[in-house]
Formats: sequence, structure tokens, C-alpha cells
Amino acid sequence: MRRKDVETKLQVANNLLSKNANLDPLTGLPNRRFYDSFLKGKWQEVIESKASISLIIIDIDHFKTFNDDYGHQVGDEVLVVVGKTLAQCIRASTDLIARYGGEEFVAIVPNMSEHKTLQLAERMRQQISALEFKSKQITISLGSATVHPDQTSDLASLFKQADQALYDAKAQGRNRACHAKSDLGK
Ligand code: GH3
Ligand code: MG
Ligand code: MG
Repeated sequence: MRRKDVETKLQVANNLLSKNANLDPLTGLPNRRFYDSFLKGKWQEVIESKASISLIIIDIDHFKTFNDDYGHQVGDEVLVVVGKTLAQCIRASTDLIARYGGEEFVAIVPNMSEHKTLQLAERMRQQISALEFKSKQITISLGSATVHPDQTSDLASLFKQADQALYDAKAQGRNRACHAKSDLGK
């Protein structure tokens, strides 16, 4: 084989490797590792452009019970369909849906108001609750937060706020979306 051909093959193999390192093998969605680097990049971008960034954390309700009742394999199928359905809800050119881990997904949504972010989360909730597996409804709870960061802002606080909102959604009975800010609609 010529040297150039070898180099091209190596390049192809390396591209594939880095692609695989960023993808969740079950759902085919970007994984947590990709989410981390995408969020860091977007965070800097929105600081520079003085825009906002929203984060939505999505958690399937009572998924342990679902696995216990129908088996892990059917549970896996649910994860694939839920991932695909969530991905259809976002703007592919600007937003990101990733599998954060287990039965949790995250959406990064730059340049969207709090109100629109909550509407998006609500749309996701509705789309998933329309799905049925083994005649059983699958539901999700969602927590979202929106910030306008500057150089002094802490990226971790965005996640903390969305996570608290998710906690509220679970505590209020699940199958609902909560937004972190209490001044929504003012
Ligand atoms: P909650 O409504 O409070 O979120 O309840 P939950 O049962 O969804 O939460 P819990 O954290 O107790 O359980 C999560 C379950 O998700 C347990 C685990 O078996 C399941 N799970 C995580 N990853 C996978 C996976 O890759 N495949 C399948 N089939 N199940 C998974
Ligand atoms: Mg969970
Ligand atoms: Mg859960």
C-alpha cells in the first residue's frame, strides 16, 4: 500500500474513533462526554454574543419499575425511541440532545427565552406521553433553567438550577415540566 493510502486509512480510522467516543452506543445520540465539551463551547459563545442559554434535564419516570415489569431489553427499546422523539423536538442546527446517562437526557438550547424553553419542555413531555410500550404509557419529568451568563458566571450553577427544577417536577407528581425561575411570565 502506498504511504498516502495508509495515511488516508489512518485518518478515516481516527475520525471513526473520535466519533464513537462521542456517541452513546444504544441510542446513537451524543453522549455525556460530547455534551460536556459542547456546553463549554456554547457557554463561551453566548457570553461573547450576550445571549442566553437554557438547559433541560429529562428523566424517565419510574423506569426501574418498567424494567422490572417488562425486562431490560424492552427498557432499552424505550430508551432508543425516547431519544429519537426528543431529538425531533429540537432545532438540529443550534441545539443539542444528549444521553446524560441511564434514563436521563439533556438538551442544550441557546438563545431561547425562559417562556419558550418551558414550552419546548412541555412539548417534549407531551410527545413522550403519547408513546406506548406494551400498552403502558411512558412519561418523563423535566427541569429547565435559563441564564444570561457573563465572564463571572458559573457554568455548574446552570445544571444545579435545572436539576432543582427536575426535583420539583418529580416531587409535584412526575409527568411534568418545571422551570427554575420563579418570575416566569412577569
Ligand atoms: P424516578 O421516577 O424517580 O426517576 O424513578 P426511576 O425508577 O426512573 O429512577 P431510578 O433512578 O430508581 O431508576 C432508574 C432506572 O433506569 C434503573 C435502571 O435499571 C434503569 N436504566 C438505567 N440505564 C439503563 C439502560 O441502559 N437500559 C435499561 N433498560 N434500563 C436502564
Ligand atoms: Mg434518573
Ligand atoms: Mg427516572
